[in-house]
Amino acid sequence: MKQYRYILNEDLTLDEMIAEIQGLSEYHDGLKGFLQIVEQDCVVGPIQEDLDKLVSELGKLQIIGMTSHGALSKETHSIPYTVCTVLFFERSSFEIDVFDCHLQTPREAGKEYKCVLRGYESTKAILMMSSDFSLCPEPFIDCINELDCELVVFGALAGTKRMGDDRPLIFVGNCIYDRAIVAVAFCGTELHFAYDYNLGFKSLGKELVVTKSDDKGVVYEIDNKPAFDVYKEHLGVEMNEYFFENTSSFPFMLRQHGHYLARVALDYRKKDGALEFAVQIPEGSTVSLGYATEQYLLDESYLNAKRMFGFHPEALLIYVCMSRRMLVGDDSAELELDFYENVNPCATWAHGYGEILHANGLRGFLNASLVAVGIREGEITAEEQARKFKDIDIPKDYFIGFKPLSSRLVRFLEATTSDLRFAVDQLFKVASLDELTQIYNRRALNHFMQKYIDDFGSEGEIMLLLVDIDHFKHVNDTYGHDVGDMILKEGVDRLKSFVTQKDIIGRWGGEEFLILSPYSNREKALMVAESIRSYVEKTEFDVVGHITISGGVTLLRPDDTIDTAFKRVDDALYEAKEAGRNKMVYR
Ligand code: GH3
Ligand code: MG
Ligand code: MG
Repeated sequence: MKQYRYILNEDLTLDEMIAEIQGLSEYHDGLKGFLQIVEQDCVVGPIQEDLDKLVSELGKLQIIGMTSHGALSKETHSIPYTVCTVLFFERSSFEIDVFDCHLQTPREAGKEYKCVLRGYESTKAILMMSSDFSLCPEPFIDCINELDCELVVFGALAGTKRMGDDRPLIFVGNCIYDRAIVAVAFCGTELHFAYDYNLGFKSLGKELVVTKSDDKGVVYEIDNKPAFDVYKEHLGVEMNEYFFENTSSFPFMLRQHGHYLARVALDYRKKDGALEFAVQIPEGSTVSLGYATEQYLLDESYLNAKRMFGFHPEALLIYVCMSRRMLVGDDSAELELDFYENVNPCATWAHGYGEILHANGLRGFLNASLVAVGIREGEITAEEQARKFKDIDIPKDYFIGFKPLSSRLVRFLEATTSDLRFAVDQLFKVASLDELTQIYNRRALNHFMQKYIDDFGSEGEIMLLLVDIDHFKHVNDTYGHDVGDMILKEGVDRLKSFVTQKDIIGRWGGEEFLILSPYSNREKALMVAESIRSYVEKTEFDVVGHITISGGVTLLRPDDTIDTAFKRVDDALYEAKEAGRNKMVYR
């Protein structure tokens, strides 16, 4: 495949670009291709003229595009040019579909697209753009996910020149939509994709809980106070027209499946202090404010770009958030793009109101990020393999000599955050131990399970092993409660010899114990469970002699809640008891 990029500014007009494209051999030869246009402005008239011209002059290409977040109102950062890219496909293909969301919701559109996708062969990935804040891509993507959870979806939400003004638009052919989703399905057995999710923001300060929110993206209360108070208290920001400029570099951070996600507030409500986001932040979510420095952003995107180089993408599409540009300034923001231009000089970018990446546990909607998608047809050639990544000097003066006040302040905040979180951890430990056995109590186990669920995938597979002493009532009845207590303590000491530092062991209740063990798998889990069972069976306990245990074993699943995971392991334990005790059952 082949990619060409055109930046329309004072040096290159639309007509000149059209002439250049018409002169390309791929165009002559009639290779299947499309042109992605990212407009800097949202004025329908001129866009319509451009699109009409493109459609009539470049009949062999299909056209898709969107408006971008061209400039920011109170800052000088601006991208006053239109970016076009043309992708030609030699050994694969693509299909373009558009869904007018005046007529259907994103979920309905997604359901329809799911049927459409069934008709396409070897779909490898989907590029999507949507034109509206309220057209959050996640319900649409969820439907695609139901069809094939491996299908990767990437792209962006269109933007506008000024926040909150004109409506963002997307285009397909010479049609302009102000409320629609366009999807490009890339099909072909020889197609390969690689994805980067660059964030670089870190979670700072106290962790807060969203206590009231709705499914439209409005967060009313955080820690039972008006959501805006978080900015007021932490950033000293007032409700005024500089809201976005003041806050967009401090997105809210939340964890999902082991990734940090940033959520940039789009606006606030004066009457109740609520904050508006493009996507729902569910009640109960733990959030904190995030901040990044130039160095954090650049270090991460540099490393990712270098890795992407190893994939040798023939085409490279980038979707990047304007808030990065606001944070680090134009020069550094350009540097991020330079890294990727070193991977592929035709790399093409778009700034919208949100990036989209559904891959590796990410559900779809992103903020404050840079999503890079490399595409190639066929295997990497020996010639490509021999190429070297051209290094760029990242300004490293950040690390030497005099440090600017801002970087010292950030460092101070980070150190304070880390101290604070350590202190919270210590308090948690005190409040989370079981008095009799001095291992974690049920509250703590719930906390850890939730953490594993939130970070799903980041620590490999997680084993849950629920152990229950067989006929323990009999021990109490025969030898007395004190002996029962002693057995519980002794049993825990013995159980401890089976767990390593990374494992978590706690008392779920009565004589039931739960072990959570990361980096496991079905075989390992069963082996550990079985060795504990047989060890107990062989052990001579004080006073009571021999006892046995039964257990349920399972692995955490991506869609688990604490309740579903526990039910599974408890059902397995029940099965072990039913099967005659002194057994371990996997579910
Ligand atoms: P099985 O699990 O094999 O079905 O039989 P069981 O006799 O162990 O039955 P069950 O699990 O229902 O009973 C648990 C008993 O554990 C009930 C209670 O007397 C005892 N127990 C719970 N907590 C403690 C404790 O802290 N100390 C003592 N000594 N006994 C406890
Ligand atoms: Mg029991
Ligand atoms: Mg029991």
